[in-house]
Formats: sequence, structure tokens, C-alpha cells
Amino acid sequence: RAKQYGHNHFQFYSADASARFQADIVLRSQFQQALDDEELELHYQPIYQLATGRIVGVEALMRWQLADGRNVSPAEFIPLAETTGQIIPASEWALDRACRDSKRLQEFGDLTVAVNVSALQFHRAEFLDYIMETLQRHDLSPRTIELELTESVLMDNTDYAIALLRKLRQTGLQIALDDFGTGFSGLSYLKQLPVTKLKIDQAFTQGIHSHESDEAITRGIIAMAKQLGITTVAEGIENAEQQQTLLELGAELGQGYYFARPMPFDQLVEFIKSANR
Ligand code: C2E
Ligand code: MG
Ligand code: MG
Ligand code: MG
Repeated sequence: RAKQYGHNHFQFYSADASARFQADIVLRSQFQQALDDEELELHYQPIYQLATGRIVGVEALMRWQLADGRNVSPAEFIPLAETTGQIIPASEWALDRACRDSKRLQEFGDLTVAVNVSALQFHRAEFLDYIMETLQRHDLSPRTIELELTESVLMDNTDYAIALLRKLRQTGLQIALDDFGTGFSGLSYLKQLPVTKLKIDQAFTQGIHSHESDEAITRGIIAMAKQLGITTVAEGIENAEQQQTLLELGAELGQGYYFARPMPFDQLVEFIKSANR
């Protein structure tokens, strides 16, 4: 049947795309089922002050396990949920859960709970109101929650994004720029952005001993953030050498498998109890 197109190349491409499309349709309806049945979970990964080894906050990361026990990676289902709009109810569920858990973490000190925000969510007119309502419902100060946004979320409509970030900051919410260094934005626009944290993408952390450019860029990002009074977080620290180098370069905070993997909330509570003693 494909012969009628005459071009083998096209045939293969087309078969691939079609299989991909079918798989997406299945995943999409499974994700809807997971939303309806409340089968999503939030795991939390601790974030450390590098100089003291204390846990200063956690990042909430969505988890989805299929009935057969297979975990679907957020790198797969988040982009899909963005195209279908399912990211909206999923994010609302996640923020609600993160607020509830943040409240329960208060007895362990001033820990920031970071939640990832998707582009679709950020650019909805009701974004700010929705967050404030959720915080109020949980009787939670905005200061305890940090929103993680990537550069690409802000690039869409920069003026609008900057104005909205200002409003979010005015409420006391913290804002982190996630995966920093991987986007196309110039560093100069950073001074216009009212962000509290820069999260240096894990690609730089992981290349810090093998690529001089990664070290140079990391050094540059940290120096610039210091100038602007922004806290830096090194993502994806996997060994003691990376931790040591990032500390020497002046990164204040760090996160990665070397310290702790993302874990369910109950486990996190036990983990924090013994870690921050
Ligand atoms: P992210 O926000 O940059 O989250 C950090 C990712 O790096 C997480 O992957 C985390 O498990 C992983 N990670 C942490 N430490 C290490 C390390 O030492 N080595 C390596 N190789 N990886 C490490 P995860 O949980 O698979 O999430 C992937 C991405 O999916 C996140 O990247 C974020 O962009 C998105 N995501 C996850 N949960 C949510 C959510 O609730 N809402 C939205 N909008 N996006 C989410
Ligand atoms: Mg993040
Ligand atoms: Mg990140
Ligand atoms: Mg990422």
C-alpha cells in the first residue's frame, strides 16, 4: 500500500508517526482515567544548602504508575498533557496536594515546597487567582510555596510574563527559573525578571568535570546570579566531586541523586526528621 507513494523514506516516516499517534491516543485516555481515579502521586526531592548539608526545601514531582506497575515518565506524560489541556486539572490536583503536604511539613521548620508550572497553566488568565484561592483554602502563607518556571514559559509573551511574575512576587510567592542555561534567552534579560532562584540545569552539573565549557558557564551563571541577589541551585548532583566543585564555584543550594531521590511524602517526613536533626 505504501508503494503508491513511491518514496520509501516517506513510508517509514509515516508508519512511525502513525504508531506514535496511536500510542499517544492510548496514553491520553489512560491519563484521563488516572486523573478521574486520582491515581497520580506527588513525590518529593529534598533540596540542600551545600555549605551546611541542611535540607531547606523540597521539589514536588508528579508520578504516574499504570495498572501493570509500569511508571510513565513525566518527560513523556507532561508534554502530552500540555497538548490535550489535561495538564490543567493535573496541575490543580498537584498544587492542592503540595499545599496540603507543605502544611504538614511546617513542624519541621521553614521548608519551601517547589511546584513545577507548565506554560499552559501560567498563561491562563485565572492563574494568579487560582493559586491564591488554593493557598487560602489551606491557610498557607505564599512564602512557603515556590513556583518553578522554565525560560520557555516566559519567552512566549515576555511582557505579560514579567508583569505576572511581579504580581506573583508581590504576594510573597517564591519564583525559581528551572533548567536554567538550556533556553535561548540572553542573560541580560534576567535582570528584568523578579525571580528568587536560578536552578542550573543538570546538564551543566554533569558536565562540570568533563567539559570546560560547562564549568565556565556554571561559573558565569553563579557570578551573575550573585550580582543580582538571586540564589542558585545546582540540579542533578550525582556524586561528591560535583557537590564539592559546585560549592567551590559558589552555588548555595543543590539537589540530586547524590543526596536523595524523589520519594513519597510519608518517606520524606521520616527522611527530614533524621536528616535535619
Ligand atoms: P525538573 O523540574 O527539572 O525536575 C528535575 C528532574 O530531574 C526530575 O525528573 C528529577 O527526578 C530529576 N533528577 C533529580 N536529581 C537527579 C540526578 O541527580 N540525576 C538525574 N539524572 N536526574 C535527577 P522527573 O521527576 O522525571 O521530572 C521530569 C520533568 O517533568 C521535570 O523536570 C518537570 O519539567 C516535569 N514535571 C515533573 N512533575 C511536574 C509537575 O507536577 N508539573 C509540571 N508542569 N511538570 C512536572
Ligand atoms: Mg523543576
Ligand atoms: Mg529542572
Ligand atoms: Mg527539567
